[in-house]
Formats: sequence, C-alpha cells, structure tokens
Amino acid sequence: MIIVMKNGVTAEQINEVARHIESWGARAHVDRGEIQTVIGVIGDKAEILRKPWGSFAGVEKVLEVSDPFKMASRKFHPTDTVIDVEGVKIGGGHTCVIAGPCSVDTEEYVLAIAKAVKASGAKMLRGGAFKPRTSPYTFQGSGEDGLKILQTVKKETGLPIVTEVMSVDQIDLVYRYADVIQVGARNTQNFNLLKAIGKMNKPVILKNGIATTAKEHLMSAEYIMSEGLKDVILCLRGTRSYETAMRNSLDVALIPYLQELSHLPVIVDSSHSTGARAYVNPVAYAGMAAGADGLILEVHPKPHEALSDGEQALLPRDFEYLMRKLDDLKPFSQKDWVKFDGENGAK
Ligand code: PEP
Ligand code: MN
Repeated sequence: MIIVMKNGVTAEQINEVARHIESWGARAHVDRGEIQTVIGVIGDKAEILRKPWGSFAGVEKVLEVSDPFKMASRKFHPTDTVIDVEGVKIGGGHTCVIAGPCSVDTEEYVLAIAKAVKASGAKMLRGGAFKPRTSPYTFQGSGEDGLKILQTVKKETGLPIVTEVMSVDQIDLVYRYADVIQVGARNTQNFNLLKAIGKMNKPVILKNGIATTAKEHLMSAEYIMSEGLKDVILCLRGTRSYETAMRNSLDVALIPYLQELSHLPVIVDSSHSTGARAYVNPVAYAGMAAGADGLILEVHPKPHEALSDGEQALLPRDFEYLMRKLDDLKPFSQKDWVKFDGENGAK
C-alpha cells in the first residue's frame, strides 16, 4: 500500500503520517521525490486500509499495491533510482559500462585490462576473487590475494571495483575491498545472503537467477531492500531455456519490462548470456538499444589464458569497437521508448 501525499506537503505532515503507521505496527518508507512524496506501508494491509486516512493533513490518496514487491516497485518510487559509486552514476539516464576479467588474474593482466577498458570508456572494473564454478575441480578464485590486486589496480586507474560475494561468511572480507557487490546467478535466491547484504551499505548488482522469472528477480531485490539498502542494480544475464545454441537465453524485452515495474537501474551481461565472444557485442548493443542503463562485460587480452570464461571474453579491441559503436545510440535516450510514471505505466 502507498500513501500519496499532496504537492507542497510539509515535513511535519509526512512525519505525522509515518509516526502513525509505525504505531500501528507497520513499517513506513518515506520517498521524497522532487514533485511528489509517497509513503510505502509494509504491514497488515486490511487493517491499515481501515485507518482514517481522510483525517490526515497532506494525504492526497491511498493506493493498494498488489505487486508482492514493494520497495522495488515503481509505484513506491515513481522516479528512476540513480546510484552513485564514487561519482560514477547509473540509472535515470546515466549509463555505465563495467568491464574486466571473469576471474581476477595476475596483477599485470588486470592492470592492462583496466587501463584498456578505461581508455575505451568503461567506468568501473569487474573481477571475481570468489568464483561460483560448476565443477569443484576448476579454479575457484584467488580469494583475498585477488581482492588485493583489485585494490592496487583501483589505485592506479581510479576505477571503482565490482566483485562477487558468494556467502555470508565472505561479507566482512569482500566489503573491505569492493565498491559494488555482485550477487551472482547461483545466489539470486540465497535469501540469507540477500538479507545480510541488505543490512550493509554498498551498492549491489543483483543478477537474475539461472531460471528465475523477472518477478522472482524483483522479489530478490525486495529481500535486499526490505533490510534497508536502496542501491540495487538489476542485471540480466539470461536464463536457462530449451535453446542450447547459447550458454543462456537473454530476453531483451525484459529491459523495458523491468524498468516499467521497477525504478531500479537495469544492466545487461551479454558475456554470460551468450557464452561466446562472437555474440557478446551484438547482444550488448541490442541491450543498450532497448534502453538498458549499462553493461557488465568480460574482457581479457589473452582469452585462452584466462582463468575462467575465456571463450566469452572480449579482446580489448572488440570492447573498444563496441564502445565506439554505442555512440550511434547517443542521440537517442532510453526515455524515448516509453515513459513510466509508476501509476499509469506500471502493471
Ligand atoms: C560472473 O560474473 O563471472 C558470473 C559467475 O556470473 P553469473 O553469476 O551470471 O553466472
Ligand atoms: Mn564469468
């Protein structure tokens, strides 16, 4: 349920409503927009609906939100969320491309990759130090040594670091080095991990699960947000489908669909969704053309030497080509496609 406040509502009136909501045993999440303030109410819907809303000054209307996701819903927060990572913005028309190796490699390689992708326009560096591998006999990641390499490379290049946390017991360590936390596809529905991350204060890239629906993906975002963290970036990396031509199947229609349902930024990972270098750039371009807020891509100068996912790594020159090609889209804004205003645009 959301309480839509009148234009020009005062802070006192907002606090009064929020205080009452809390006193009825529900939770109030105040979202002060430039134009409109809405208060999200999490709690027993039937009881809250019976309250005397007409007697509160500043309340314009009360809307029922049937979606099971609330904090992630555009109805709760009609304007796009813009996430700021050390000055790098993503969402609300700010696009951001993140690139780097699948696994943190040697310092020499990671530095070379970081310099190359930065020169081509990447704004953040990705690299996994803890790797969720299908086989326990393959490389499992370099752990803290890898995190230290990322830190060194950040010092040299200034690129903020995106890296994966796989379990609750890794949180303390990974948070010391990461600027953005990645939750991988295998952990999208690890609800204990999501809740623990929601209590921390770093932005999160939340991938869709191996076989989650878009709404399940949003419910996972809700797990994080219901603990207090607002900065969640949804990442589409494809799902398992009947089609075996690609590693996964990415539905580009989910980009505007998620943007309609949610205010959170949506980025595309065309490395894991295709699994093969030849298709990574076309799908990345398609994702940006469909209005994605950014990309996260794997790049390696010697893919055959990469510690994981070499077959889908772009060469630095492929990445550079993609970044130039993306300039074609600059005259167009993603906002040209559809305008989502929460009430009318969202389902
Ligand atoms: C990765 O980013 O290297 C990764 C393991 O991705 P995903 O969780 O999407 O498979
Ligand atoms: Mn990978």
